[in-house]
This record gives sequence, C-alpha cells and structure tokens, in this order.
Amino acid sequence: MSVLIVSPGRDPENWVKALENQHPGLNIYVYPEEHDPEEVEFALTWNHPRGLFKNYPNLKVIASMGAGVDHILSDEGLPEDVRVTRVIDETLTEDMGDFVLSQVMNHIRGLHYYAKVQQKKKWDQFQYKRPQNTKVGIMGLGVLGNAVAEKLNKNFFKVYAWSRTEKSCSNVTCYHGKDQLEEFLQNSEVLVCLLPLTEDTENILNSDLFDMLPEGAYIINVARGQHLVEHDLMKMIDSGHLSGASLDVFREEPLPEDHPFWEHSKINITPHIASVTKPESVVPQIVDNYERMKENEPLKNKVELEKGY
Ligand code: NDP
Repeated sequence: MSVLIVSPGRDPENWVKALENQHPGLNIYVYPEEHDPEEVEFALTWNHPRGLFKNYPNLKVIASMGAGVDHILSDEGLPEDVRVTRVIDETLTEDMGDFVLSQVMNHIRGLHYYAKVQQKKKWDQFQYKRPQNTKVGIMGLGVLGNAVAEKLNKNFFKVYAWSRTEKSCSNVTCYHGKDQLEEFLQNSEVLVCLLPLTEDTENILNSDLFDMLPEGAYIINVARGQHLVEHDLMKMIDSGHLSGASLDVFREEPLPEDHPFWEHSKINITPHIASVTKPESVVPQIVDNYERMKENEPLKNKVELEKGY
C-alpha cells in the first residue's frame, strides 16, 4: 500500500525526503506521476484538483499538510467514509504567535507607516500606544488562537477572544456565539482573525462586523482570504473607521498584480507566510496516523466533518 502526495504548485521534495527518513521503505507516489490508484490508502495533500480523490477506491485517509482543511472539505467530490486529518504542530503554533505579535507591535508603534514614509524622506513623530493600553480581540480560540492569546498576554496586551462554544482561558476575556459577538467586537481595538473557513465564517469580516469595532480599529487576517469581504475593508479604511489592516491571506493567491491592496497605503501584505508547515516537524504525526490507519486505531488530529474544522 502507498502514500500519495498531491500538492500542485508546491515542491513536494522535502515531504518525500522527510517521509522516507521517518519511514524507510514507505511507498510514496507524487501526483501526477504514474501510479495505480488501487494501491493508495493514504493521501497527503494541499490544494488537490477537485474530484481527484474519487478515483481512489481504497483511499481511507486524507491528511492536510497544514492546520486548515477548507481546501479538502470544499471538494464536493470526496469519497464517502474517508477520514480527514489536519496538522497540530508546536512549531507552526509558535510561529503564528510570533507573527501576530509582530504585526500588533508594528501597528501600535507605527512601524508599517514608517516603512512606507521612509521612501518619501518624511520625519513624522507621533505618540504611540503601549501594549498595556491596547485591547486585542482574537476571533477563534483554537490551537492557534490560544497560542496568540498567550503570546499577547506575556507581552502585556489586554486580550479578548471569541469562539463558537464557551471557553475559559486565563487572562483572556472570553465570548462565544453570535449573541456575544458585538460585545467582543466593542473590545477589539486590534482584531485578529484565526477562524477556520466554514459556511458560518465565510465573509464574516464585512461592513456590519467592522461597524461594531471601535473607531480606528486595525484588522489582522491570518486565517483565510474568504473570511474577508475585500470591498468592505477598503471602504471602511477609506472612510477612516478602520485605521488599516495586515493581510496574510487572500481570496486569490498569489494576490494578482493589479489588485488594489498592493498600492493601498494602509494595507500591509505578506504572502501567506504567517506560519508555514515544516515537513520535518509534522511528518512524525503523519506517519503515526498512517500506522494507526493500518492498525485500525483512532487517528490523531481528526477533523469533525460535520463541524467543518
Ligand atoms: P482550531 O480548529 O484549533 O480552532 C478554531 C477556532 O475557531 C475554535 O476556537 C472554534 O470554536 C472557532 N470557531 C469555529 N467556527 C466558529 C464560528 N462559527 N463562530 C465562532 N468561532 C468559531 O483551528 P486552528 O487554531 O488550528 O487554525 C485556525 C485557522 O488558521 C486554520 O483553519 C487556517 O485557516 C488558519 N491558518 C493560517 C495560517 C497562515 O499561515 N496564515 C497557518 C495555519 C493556519 P470552538 O473552540 O468553540 O470550536
């Protein structure tokens, strides 16, 4: 039996090497090289062609190469009864904490702004906020949201969080569900989106939501581009209600060259690098799940398909 890697647009070589190191002798195919679909029981994937997995009659597990699984679950042509797993990884989690902290710090100290006005040789001193006086709201208090909350706490920010179900977390004021969304937003001077992309969360960052934020709020989207209604963000920044945004994820990636975000003075762009999976770090859990599948044992980091994350 074999493992199939399907990751169009990404170089699979490091994954192959890491898998071979972890499990010498493992039979690995890299799509689209020639292989017998009947042999494949386990697929490791990122952004597979829609409907592809229907062609694998013995496929039991689809493992995401990252923390998100929207790229898998959005495929209406998944085989029935297939199980889906995702990555939960300390390195990935720490990296997300570092990234969000750096974005929040850049925002409150005006560093994004100074990087832009340097090109105009502009000397423009202004007062800045300190972490102790800054309220940061995190949408999504899961693996990554928790790590970000902890990192911000350690750096003296006031932290608020919003999740689907009730949560408690030390030094974080927790809200949950639609009824508590408004109160959560009213406390979010910086809003960080770390929700999974599901039917419920798609387009959640829109004008109605932005309206509930305090005047001058700043948006950090490190979740998925489809959470954000792009036109609404531009409108709310241009009206002065929002002070700007740091965006790491986009509806279309790479962000097209003619996209207005590139030129916007108050939008800061990074190319989906907030936290990138390192194959050598996550391959042990992938191989562990491969062995579990073979032994009919429960899988780790299994996704609840009904919930969508
Ligand atoms: P988790 O599944 O661990 O956590 C998801 C959180 O979102 C949970 O707290 C959950 O609530 C909450 N949530 C889900 N649906 C809703 C809803 N309808 N209303 C309110 N809250 C909701 O995910 P992770 O923290 O591991 O990852 C989050 C996302 O980050 C990934 O799905 C991925 O898209 C993105 N990501 C981005 C990366 C980047 O480089 N930019 C890298 C890695 C991930 P509850 O706790 O009640 O279930």
